[in-house]
Amino acid sequence: MQIIEIYRSLQGESSYAGLPCVFVRLAGCNLRCTWCDSEYTFSGGRRMTLEEIEDEVRRLSPDGGLVEITGGEPLLQEGECVPLMDRLLASGYAVLLETSGERPLESVPSQVVKIVDVKCPDSGEPDTFNMENLKALTPRDEVKFVIASRRDYEFAREFVREHNLGSRVASVILSPAFRKDAAGSRDASHCLVDPRELAEWMLADGLQARLGLQIHKFIWEPSLKGV
Ligand code: SF4
Repeated sequence: MQIIEIYRSLQGESSYAGLPCVFVRLAGCNLRCTWCDSEYTFSGGRRMTLEEIEDEVRRLSPDGGLVEITGGEPLLQEGECVPLMDRLLASGYAVLLETSGERPLESVPSQVVKIVDVKCPDSGEPDTFNMENLKALTPRDEVKFVIASRRDYEFAREFVREHNLGSRVASVILSPAFRKDAAGSRDASHCLVDPRELAEWMLADGLQARLGLQIHKFIWEPSLKGV
């Protein structure tokens, strides 16, 4: 598989946020979100076998725990990504898969927790969510909307309501987009939508969803990679 990096940090943006987690970051993405903070994954990386990847995961977290497969878009390497997830599950790891929602999800092993984006209009990649993926969601999965504007919020609110997402998945997350050139201070000034404003919109509408903050960008310097 083409791998950008494997490292251990805290999970930053789901209901698992704050837990120690090994990240396996795969190379390549077919989308170009305007606020993408992972453009360094679009090319490059190094070739690793499944065995080498599992060895590195074991070295970083010998006693099990969480492993997140992320990217880029991991399912562009589906032929190897699915066997990798099977292997990690068989070794006793809890596996999260972070995906853009554009790739089909039916091949993902059922024990994997899928954290699935639905791209909003101001991501620059609207209408890329594969609607068939709604059928592949399970009560252990999570759906995430990255919000860059009031327009994005209204899109997310209507999508959540229309598809009754709250009853399909464990968590629906609305997360303010971070400026991709964010650097320096570790605070909400880099968010494209003020988290307080987003919280107030959600409360005013009684939206059954979780406000998500990318906690790693508040703990470490926001431009830092590998955290
Ligand atoms: S899907 Fe993810 S990695 Fe790809 S461009 Fe969008 S934010 Fe970046």
